[in-house]
Amino acid sequence: MSAELRFDPIRLPPECEALRREVRAFISQEVAAGTFDPARVVHGEGQSPEFSRRVGGKGWIGMTWPKKYGGHERSYLERYVITEEFRVANAPVRLHFVADRQSGPVLIKYAPEHVKTDVLPRICRGEVCFAIGMSEPGSGSDLFAAKTKATRTKGGWLVNGTKIWTSNAHYADYLIALFRTSPPTKENRRHGLTQFLVDMKTPGIKINPIYQMSGLHDFNEVVFEDAFMPDDHVLGEIDGAWKQATSELAYERSGPERFLETLYVLIELVRVLGPEPDLRGAEGIGRLVAQLHTLRRMSVSVAGMLQAGKEPVVEGSIVKDLGTIWEQKLPARVRELAAFVEPEVTNRVTLEEQLAFATVIAPKLTLQGGTTEVLRGIIARGLGLR
Ligand SMILES: Cc1cc2nc3c(=O)[nH]c(=O)nc-3n(C[C@H](O)[C@H](O)[C@H](O)COP(=O)(O)OP(=O)(O)OC[C@H]3O[C@@H](n4cnc5c(N)ncnc54)[C@H](O)[C@@H]3O)c2cc1C
Repeated sequence: MSAELRFDPIRLPPECEALRREVRAFISQEVAAGTFDPARVVHGEGQSPEFSRRVGGKGWIGMTWPKKYGGHERSYLERYVITEEFRVANAPVRLHFVADRQSGPVLIKYAPEHVKTDVLPRICRGEVCFAIGMSEPGSGSDLFAAKTKATRTKGGWLVNGTKIWTSNAHYADYLIALFRTSPPTKENRRHGLTQFLVDMKTPGIKINPIYQMSGLHDFNEVVFEDAFMPDDHVLGEIDGAWKQATSELAYERSGPERFLETLYVLIELVRVLGPEPDLRGAEGIGRLVAQLHTLRRMSVSVAGMLQAGKEPVVEGSIVKDLGTIWEQKLPARVRELAAFVEPEVTNRVTLEEQLAFATVIAPKLTLQGGTTEVLRGIIARGLGLR
């Protein structure tokens, strides 16, 4: 068993609570101004360019990044608070969230200096949206089987092939993508992939929508036909992206967004059951909140590991696996606990509407960001069990 695997019981320091009050005041102002309605998740209003710019203006994007790139050199624990408060409020963060969570950190590690000074400050101002181009038809979980090919040409590379399930690609400014630059070797089947920064305005890129069961258009098929990538958009080592892509996944998998996507049904259940729920309701809510609290402690612990400069890939996978199973089961559990509550007739988005929406998005939760089975493979390997 790996001696490295442990979740330190980290507590959020006092500066985090001061920040939390500031964020809540900002959210209240935005809700009062009509920017978004925390209950109205059912309409999938996940993005707002103006909101992202205002969040950037507050200094809440790129919080942990160096000041010379527009960042704020604050802690991962402070960033945790921002993510948590915005997610619980269902704030429209989609435009800047991926760039803040993982694309920016990849650029900081691997992009040429002039690319960093160009792109990172714009991310921090909430002006650019990033997408993730890993999955392909035929290689979702098995990233290293990717076939989309980048072939050498004068001054850069020509890309041909197809990415799939690419969230936000239809409005993203950039994509960080894995392309095949050489065949795998006998010794290392992961060899031969390179990470690129793709400007989505590049000629030869076609975006085809894919609609989810909820009817929302969140992800896409992205087709490359002789799309030119300049040399300075290569990120890191040519053919060596397998070393880079796995550390990106620690950022992608461990945050509170991995167990809060259906939280609104629990918040609404607490509201409709009122201050004096019956024994069954109280026991049910108590159990769900205790589980949520545990997930939160684990996720805060992972934020502490990121703060300490570690790459908590296994711990992040554990949080993602437990978290997504919890948030996936939540709508059904809430439905049971609310079974005897009279439906409300108000202008609010009702619990029934929220449950209907949460139920149709639930199946995707254990797929996005890595499937349950694949995560368990990573955890087993980390524990020395395979
Ligand atoms: C809402 C949503 C958003 C997404 N956004 C993006 C995005 O922005 N960018 C991006 O690149 N991808 C994105 N994805 C893709 C997602 O990460 C992949 O769908 C996921 O990794 C699964 O790939 P697949 O669909 O090809 O299934 P497959 O990999 O074919 O898996 C099919 C089944 O086989 C199981 N399986 C596969 N390999 C193994 C194994 N080694 N051991 C045990 N079981 C295994 C899986 O768990 C699954 O149940 C998104 C997916 C969803 C649902």
